Amino acid sequence: MARDNQKSHFGTALSNLHNGYTDSLPGREEQIERLRSFLTKHIDDHVPASMYVSGPPGTGKTVSLHSLFNSDVVTKNFNIVYVNCGMIKSANRVYIKIAELLKLAGSTAQRECKVAIEKYLKSKHKSVLLVLDEIDQLSTKNQTILYQIFEWPTITNSNIVVIGIANSLDLTDRLLPMLKSKISLQPELLNFPPYTKSELANIISHRLEKSGISDMFPANAIQLLAAKIASFRGDVRYALDVTRRVIELADEKIEKKIVLGDVMAVLNNVYSTSSALDNNDENTEKLPLQQELVVCALLLILSSSKKSQPITVGRVFDVFKKICTRRNIQARDLSDFITMCSLIETRGIIKIQGQNVNRLSKVIMLWDKNEVDDVLHDKQILVDILNDKNLL
Ligand code: ATP
Ligand code: MG
Repeated sequence: MARDNQKSHFGTALSNLHNGYTDSLPGREEQIERLRSFLTKHIDDHVPASMYVSGPPGTGKTVSLHSLFNSDVVTKNFNIVYVNCGMIKSANRVYIKIAELLKLAGSTAQRECKVAIEKYLKSKHKSVLLVLDEIDQLSTKNQTILYQIFEWPTITNSNIVVIGIANSLDLTDRLLPMLKSKISLQPELLNFPPYTKSELANIISHRLEKSGISDMFPANAIQLLAAKIASFRGDVRYALDVTRRVIELADEKIEKKIVLGDVMAVLNNVYSTSSALDNNDENTEKLPLQQELVVCALLLILSSSKKSQPITVGRVFDVFKKICTRRNIQARDLSDFITMCSLIETRGIIKIQGQNVNRLSKVIMLWDKNEVDDVLHDKQILVDILNDKNLL
């Protein structure tokens, strides 16, 4: 019985750790306050405004902005139009998406949508909070669109604030000066630096506390984990993922107390490909279940597609979701899926092209089926999946 209780405890803890939503965001108080005062000022002073948010992946940009969507200043004053540009197939579709979210029914032609949006902005309307997330995706496709949208706040009588979020740092260096030179209204800048060691440790402790399992994770183990991730990238997704894996590992032990060695074992496994190349069965660290399914999804797609045809992250994600549904497993969302892909990549199993991974990034398989077999807990899973063409 005690063990059962403990089991369900773990279940909650693990889901809390990969839950995108969180009620508090330690380390982001300053940025959230900047966003809030930016929006309040627009409402109070009626001045046109835009903002450019930058910062590397996993620094809480999206979640910080989302946390404000339920705040008074936003719910009382704004009509929220949130577009994730990484999810849009072609840059032109951004106008269609915005028109759809503004409920400007009718056209599916981008030019007509643009005209309809601009007409709407000139007419009397509730303030619009337009958030373009992952704009780097858009800018490489068609930068003119970005300049045009950032000009919208200057349209006479328009009542719109535009917030663009960019993920890659090098893009900020390239895109921002271009944007600044093309548009009349200079955007306010807000930077999200990588999380520091103590911020990461805070985030992890907070999540563990909420899950009621802070007892099993000693402070020195959290400090070690946070220090390693901070020196690597400061990406909180990695930090939470490693935390989950350490807990999963501890769950298999009788004495459910985490020691520094457990953290090191997971970190070495995640960040060194050498152990992944060690094919001695005894030593080969198996993949966590969801990562197994990602690799199986990829092998299934490969088994039925032409060699020359590139495979995208989005395609693997779609098949992965079907596999999860079939197996009654709750699939993770796209951002978690991308983190899993990165973890698989660090083991040298796949390669994802491009720095800023999104739905359209290409995935290349580096291992063959036999090598994959060695890192699966249950080889039958792969056989079943490869035989089920309905998953495609
Ligand atoms: P990307 O550039 O890849 O889009 P991002 O900066 O938008 O990354 P988020 O999606 O906001 O990153 O955050 C990644 C994950 O980390 C989310 O699941 C989020 O809930 C969690 N997270 C981020 N910052 C914090 C924080 N300060 N406290 C708790 N959880 C956090
Ligand atoms: Mg984001």
